[in-house]
Amino acid sequence: GMKQRLLVVANRLPVSANRRGEDQWSLEISAGGLVSALLGVKDVDAKWIGWAGVNVPDEVGQRALTKALAEKRCIPVFLDEEIVHQYYNGYCNNILWPLFHYLGLPQEDRLATTRNFESQFDAYKRANQMFADVVYQHYQEGDVIWCHDYHLMFLPKCLKDHDINMKVGWFLHTPFPSSEIYRTLPSRLELLRSVLCADLVGFHTYDYARHFVSACTRILGLEGTPEGVEDQGRLTRVAAFPIGIDSDRFKRALELPAVKRHISELTQRFAGRKVMLGVDRLDMIKGIPQKILAFEKFLEEHQDWNNKVVLLQIAVPTRTDVPEYQKLTSQVHEIVGRINGRFGTLTHVPIHHLDRSLDFHALCALYAVTDVALVTSLRDGMNLVSYEYVACQGSKKGVLILSEFAGAAQSLGAGAILVNPWNITEVADSIRHALMMSPDEREKRHRHNYAHVTTHTAQDWAETFVFELNDTVAEALLRT
Ligand code: UDP
Repeated sequence: GMKQRLLVVANRLPVSANRRGEDQWSLEISAGGLVSALLGVKDVDAKWIGWAGVNVPDEVGQRALTKALAEKRCIPVFLDEEIVHQYYNGYCNNILWPLFHYLGLPQEDRLATTRNFESQFDAYKRANQMFADVVYQHYQEGDVIWCHDYHLMFLPKCLKDHDINMKVGWFLHTPFPSSEIYRTLPSRLELLRSVLCADLVGFHTYDYARHFVSACTRILGLEGTPEGVEDQGRLTRVAAFPIGIDSDRFKRALELPAVKRHISELTQRFAGRKVMLGVDRLDMIKGIPQKILAFEKFLEEHQDWNNKVVLLQIAVPTRTDVPEYQKLTSQVHEIVGRINGRFGTLTHVPIHHLDRSLDFHALCALYAVTDVALVTSLRDGMNLVSYEYVACQGSKKGVLILSEFAGAAQSLGAGAILVNPWNITEVADSIRHALMMSPDEREKRHRHNYAHVTTHTAQDWAETFVFELNDTVAEALLRT
């Protein structure tokens, strides 16, 4: 039959665009989780709508980029620099991101944020309307529209105001915080009301979904039901849809000759030592200082392990123009330097810290050769690194130490060692436990996680969400 059309609306398109001339663009698809998730969904014809991440002020450039993107099934939303500054850097990244991750603002930024709030929220709504305008242009009756993340909380309302019959879903990739945190947001009412315009609202975990429903009952006075939130007989369905990864893509990568070569090089380089791995964007939410301090505590308490264990920390630079992130970078460098000075020898450095990203194949090799993965997020919507590590550990059966504040703790809790990253004594003990774990226990824990990661894939996630969205709309029609 006819494939159902799906319009995926997200802040960023899954491409990076570089301008090569007045009407010349080179495009590179970024093969992230969302892209492979949607490629794997059968019977759906998906198109992307989003910002290309570049400022294109001239019409010639816009027309050329639109044409180039069309070949990749992408449709651009053009945002100028001022709106990107206010909507994206301002409202999304300085207000919603920290709030949703329970991060306080630095004291000196607090009042400035309060003062800028209104103009940034206005820009946020304007930007969301610009996304909506592009959706209207491409919408055909029967299409499913899937809005993504905290950047687009105002979009469901824009869409339904335009055409009440649009099938609209919204999914949040971050945590949704406790209503006690959420209710400090000045625009709390408008955002909740807009999200509730969607037919289906999805989160990674039940906790996030429950927090959202509580926010609606406490702040809007609506009724929460097991199905979702009800407002004058109209139901917005709210549910948990934990995302996954394309585990086959990782398994396939491990079979490539180049990756195998890389794996044996790394194995030789670290021979005789256990290797622990951290892979994070260098963000406050990832708890990198806490992780490194816990490792220091472990070394302090187990001098016999010095020379026998290495912590390899990949810290991918992010938002490098923001002072708070620069501060975090130098803080981490200082701690790493101090610990390496304290425990290093002429031939051994305990922490290898890299301020850079790795290509996919190098990352897979690292996932495969390391003995322990250490994820210490203070808050994290899901944390895909933990899934990717498990997917690559088929032969080694390494141990995953995982923060209980990552969404992944809900699904990998049976196989991982769960920790409170704020308690560095507990994390240090878990490091010891992981390094000393018997092969039997490692095998058993790995089996749990591996079964989960390979059966709850990104494709399943996307398929389930789209199915539920269609189903929710069909049921609502039956009830009216
Ligand atoms: N990643 C990457 N290059 C790197 C390190 C990580 O592409 O050098 C990817 C990694 O494979 C994972 C993603 O970045 O898919 C991180 O996702 P996660 O959910 O762990 O955290 P986020 O960065 O989204 O907060």
